[in-house]
Amino acid sequence: MPAPVAVPAAPPAFEPFPYCGASLFAEGVRLSELADRFGTPLYVYSRAGLEAAWRAFDDALSGMPHQVCFAVKANSNLAVLDVLARLGSGFDIVSGGELERVLAAGGEAASVIFSGVGKSREEMEAGLEAGIRSFNVESVSELERLAEVAGGLGRVAPVALRVNPDVDPKTHPHIATGLKSSKFGIPIAQAREVYAMGARMRSLRMTGVGCHIGSQITTLDPFRDALGRVAALVDELAGDGIGITEVDVGGGLGIRYRDETPPSPAEYAAVVRNAFGGRPVTVHVEPGRAVCGNAGVLLARVEYLKGNGDARFAIVDAAMNDFIRPALYGGWSRILPCERRGGAGSAVYTVAGPVCESGDFLGRDRELDVEEGDPVAILSAGAYGFVMSSNYNSRPRAAEVMVDGERVHLVRRREQAAHLYALESRLPLPHGDA
Ligand SMILES: *Cc1c(COP(=O)(O)O)cnc(C)c1O
Repeated sequence: MPAPVAVPAAPPAFEPFPYCGASLFAEGVRLSELADRFGTPLYVYSRAGLEAAWRAFDDALSGMPHQVCFAVKANSNLAVLDVLARLGSGFDIVSGGELERVLAAGGEAASVIFSGVGKSREEMEAGLEAGIRSFNVESVSELERLAEVAGGLGRVAPVALRVNPDVDPKTHPHIATGLKSSKFGIPIAQAREVYAMGARMRSLRMTGVGCHIGSQITTLDPFRDALGRVAALVDELAGDGIGITEVDVGGGLGIRYRDETPPSPAEYAAVVRNAFGGRPVTVHVEPGRAVCGNAGVLLARVEYLKGNGDARFAIVDAAMNDFIRPALYGGWSRILPCERRGGAGSAVYTVAGPVCESGDFLGRDRELDVEEGDPVAILSAGAYGFVMSSNYNSRPRAAEVMVDGERVHLVRRREQAAHLYALESRLPLPHGDA
């Protein structure tokens, strides 16, 4: 066992969205100005925020062979992927669509890891033709299908098995993935057998082991448990004559939305080093939320203030279709006025959107001093925000901008209603109708 590695003191956290006087900023730009210029709802990302968070992982793993592979599903805007690709990021993808985005954004196929429990033949072909780094395979049926597809193309597919280590990440049940009861991965107890099977297939190369136990994990113990089990498996496989050269430790490190105290990337990396530091393997880490979550906000404007009996509502122009985390799994994000008022008009509100569902709220019991027409910012909205948005109620999806110092780039134009039904058609007219 390698000796435990000392954890470097965490640098002061970089704040991409600070108040300066009464105004909330994104880097060097007032958020209220962005709301006026681009309209609301509007997602705003900070380039410096993304870069600082990505580098925190890369720096923390320096000195050991590693690759930070951003989990694209957390935020797949081309500009976000572009910013990270320029830093040298790899990418963890879960669909053929995400592969296309990574390539369109200038990412390198050779540093793409294809995860996910239901890859289609077409997706496998696309990954093989692009020349991705690894397929993280989650079942025997998938292994057999991949061998067949690769064989048909005359290629050899690099494979990591995603094992399910059966640890409880102590997070929301919808985002726990490493329990025996979850649909993800191959039970770790069966892994050696499946590696032996894969090793006999000529169109596969069994190079890696992967695991990913869940998301928004705020303590180190679940990682320690899972990675300890994976390290033991790597040793057993070596004994079986299967030399693993890559270990994919997944993503899942949590962020602060409210008062959580998640481990820093440096503390997390120390756990990774302790598990694998002495072994001749390249480590892949796949953070999503921890890279982009606090590098993005959603701007909305207060449309109406209303009181229904004791309840007071601030109805804003962003809704669950724009940001579903509160409705889907009780996600909590800070809500702040873009321009602070004096406080004399403070009241406690449910902040809700226009969608016709009682579950459509962005925050409950929020003390705010706002008036109709004021822009507000929903913080910590950079991960699982825009990517989970929908057109429910025929609401066009929000625009997205990237702030870079004092510069502002519109990185996704606002949808128009006509975009929403552009692929639809009416029935043909009955024969003989005018
Ligand atoms: C979702 C996912 C991630 C990223 O999870 P975060 O909690 O956003 O860090 C990484 N790897 C895999 C396989 C995933 O499914």
